[in-house]
Amino acid sequence: MEKLANYIDGQLAPAASGGWLEDFEPATGKPYARIPDSHKADIDNAVAAAQRAFPEWSATSSAERGAWLLKLAALVERDLEKLVGAESLDSGKPVALARSLDIPRAVTNLRFFAAAATQFASESHAMESGAINYTLRSPLGVVGCISPWNLPLYLFTWKLAPALAAGNCVVAKPSELTPMTAYLFSELCIEAGLPAGVLNVVHGLGPKAGARLVEHPDVKAISFTGGTRTGADIASRAAPKFKKLSLELGGKNPTIVFADCDFERTVSESARAAFSNQGEICLCGSRILVERSLYERFREAFMQRVQSLRLGDPSDERTEQGPLISEAHLQKVLGYLDLARKEGGKILCGGRRANPKGRCTTGWFVEPTVIENLPSDCRTNQEEIFGPVVTLIAFDTEEQAIDWANSTPYGLAASLWSENTSRCHRVAARLEAGLIWVNCWMLRDLRVPMGGVKQSGTGREGGWEAMRFFTEARNVCIKYA
Ligand code: NAD
Repeated sequence: MEKLANYIDGQLAPAASGGWLEDFEPATGKPYARIPDSHKADIDNAVAAAQRAFPEWSATSSAERGAWLLKLAALVERDLEKLVGAESLDSGKPVALARSLDIPRAVTNLRFFAAAATQFASESHAMESGAINYTLRSPLGVVGCISPWNLPLYLFTWKLAPALAAGNCVVAKPSELTPMTAYLFSELCIEAGLPAGVLNVVHGLGPKAGARLVEHPDVKAISFTGGTRTGADIASRAAPKFKKLSLELGGKNPTIVFADCDFERTVSESARAAFSNQGEICLCGSRILVERSLYERFREAFMQRVQSLRLGDPSDERTEQGPLISEAHLQKVLGYLDLARKEGGKILCGGRRANPKGRCTTGWFVEPTVIENLPSDCRTNQEEIFGPVVTLIAFDTEEQAIDWANSTPYGLAASLWSENTSRCHRVAARLEAGLIWVNCWMLRDLRVPMGGVKQSGTGREGGWEAMRFFTEARNVCIKYA
């Protein structure tokens, strides 16, 4: 069984304790690799290495830091097929999705922030009273980046690229459920000759390795993407230490379909929004609110689309639905299907575990599931399921659609579908979500602020927001005679 290693101070190494964790293939439910079970000592070593590297790295020119990111981007691009296969094997995502979305986005993240490094500028404010302010923006020092399993290399690079571009040194903790591409990335850093300690990757469990990273006194900021409960725990530990915090958390995103939408496109895109990556994308639209006059027609066309989704071995190029990430997550999703039934939901399709024939029969698959007949305020419609499960809800008025869309504790994303431009602007302005898509879904411009409101998090990633997060502003005010 392959053994993965931490990447600390430019070297690959096992955990100091010698402990290992199993890494499972979701398509079969069987372990296929081992990762270091890292603890305090590994995080402490990584932070110390990052601190040693910081003076030199932060003194390099922004063009040089950009050049390092471009070099890494080129290596990821060179190894695209290998990384696509590794990501699909490790996370269960269909190989076609890893090829069209995850790995190309990792390349783009690195290139985007390579450019940002050279374009980032700080503000200057002239005062009428005869003074000028300019703002210095310096890197923070050692920062921690903690990423989840659903978009492994995509979100790992989304954090470390701006952190490095801004001149910080990084200790990254990828999800223990999907360590493989972060490990392969650390091999690429060694091949590129990235100076030792600039980036360190420590594998292991959240409550051990992750928690130590959050609490380490020399880590100045934590950029975290993951569940809301974990985010609350991290905030409670980091806030008393006055660390900078960026928290990108869960969602329960509405898709709002008005009767005047472009019907065919809305049906196919709302199905994509619901079931991409088996519904395991924080931006997935898991509650579809449909104007009552269109409801039956929409339901029929939507069901046809969902029932045609091809579930199976994620390594098969034609597969559209792979397995869920873990046995525990499978049980959580199945638990929500039971809850939906108890709450009076009518399962229109799916609703069960799936056991594809062949090598994947023991994998963690759930049939794509559509449920109707549930009120907006029941638990099924309020809590994040994070699987291939979507509910359909009919609404009568625009006001009702907005109320229900905003009714959950979350506020990450929303999409709305209508050909009435005034309505689109009017409704978009009232949605409590950090990302609102009109007549599209997950169309991403990396310059825009990305993040949620309410329990979906605090802070924003993307573009200058990320560069500002990873720098400290100091203002100098000069009075002239
Ligand atoms: P998770 O919170 O269980 O884990 C995320 C990461 O945090 C992992 O690396 C984990 O090891 C680590 N971790 C866990 N406990 C920790 C602790 N006490 N201290 C420090 N680190 C700890 O989340 P997950 O299950 O990996 O990811 C799924 C969740 O992520 C979903 O809720 C999803 O909505 C959310 N998500 C949000 C966004 C966004 O941009 N808002 C993007 C992707 C995923």
